[in-house]
Amino acid sequence: MGNNSTATQLSFKVIIIGPGAVGKTSLLNRFIHNEFTLKYKLTIGVDFLTKTIEYAPEKFVKLHIWDIGGQEKFKFLHRSFYEGAFGALVVFDLSRHQTFSNMKEWLSEMRSLVINDIPSIIIGNKSDLIPEIGQIIDRSEVEEYAKKEGCLYIETSAKNGDNVEKAFLELTTRMTKKMGKLVSKSKEES
Ligand code: GDP
Ligand code: MG
Repeated sequence: MGNNSTATQLSFKVIIIGPGAVGKTSLLNRFIHNEFTLKYKLTIGVDFLTKTIEYAPEKFVKLHIWDIGGQEKFKFLHRSFYEGAFGALVVFDLSRHQTFSNMKEWLSEMRSLVINDIPSIIIGNKSDLIPEIGQIIDRSEVEEYAKKEGCLYIETSAKNGDNVEKAFLELTTRMTKKMGKLVSKSKEES
C-alpha cells in the first residue's frame, strides 16, 4: 500500500474450504462471534459472514468470508464460490487422518478453479484433542506438504480459540502484501 491511501476501504473475499465436520463453521463462529458449540449443525449450500479487522495499527480491512457445505449435490456452487476469492483457509481435522488427504483434493480443486494463485493457509483444526488422542497425523509430513504448496501451516482450536485469530491475521497480512504488489505493478504499467 502507498502512503497516500486516504479514505479507501480494502475489502477481500476469503473462502474457507475442506472436508465435512473439520470445523470450518466453528472457526468462523469463534473468529466472528467468539463462540463455540459442540452441537454439529450442517452447513447447507454456502454461508457468508463479514468482519472488519485491524491487521496493523490503524490499518483496517473488511473480510467477506464464504463458508461452504460439503455436500456433493451442491458442487455446482463451487465455481461461484471460488470466483473473486483473494485468500483461502484450507482446513482438515487433526483427529481424523482421512481429512488430511481429502483436504489436499480441496486445495487442488481450488487451484483449478481460481485463476490466480491466492494466499492460502492450511489449518489443522481441533488441536485441543491432541493431548487426549495423541498426534494422529505426522506434523512434519503436513509441514512438508504445506511448504511444497507454498502455504503456511497453522494448528488451531475453534473450541478453545487457540491460533484462530492468528490464522485470519496471517492470511490478511499475506493478502494485503499481494494487493500492494499488484497495485505497484499496475502503477508501473500505466
Ligand atoms: P464444518 O462441517 O467443517 O463446518 O464443521 P463444524 O464447524 O460444523 O464442526 C463439526 C463438529 O466438530 C462440531 O460438532 C463442532 O463442535 C466440532 N468442532 C469444531 N471445531 C472443533 C475444535 O477445534 N475442537 C473440537 N474438539 N471440536 C471441534
Ligand atoms: Mg459448516
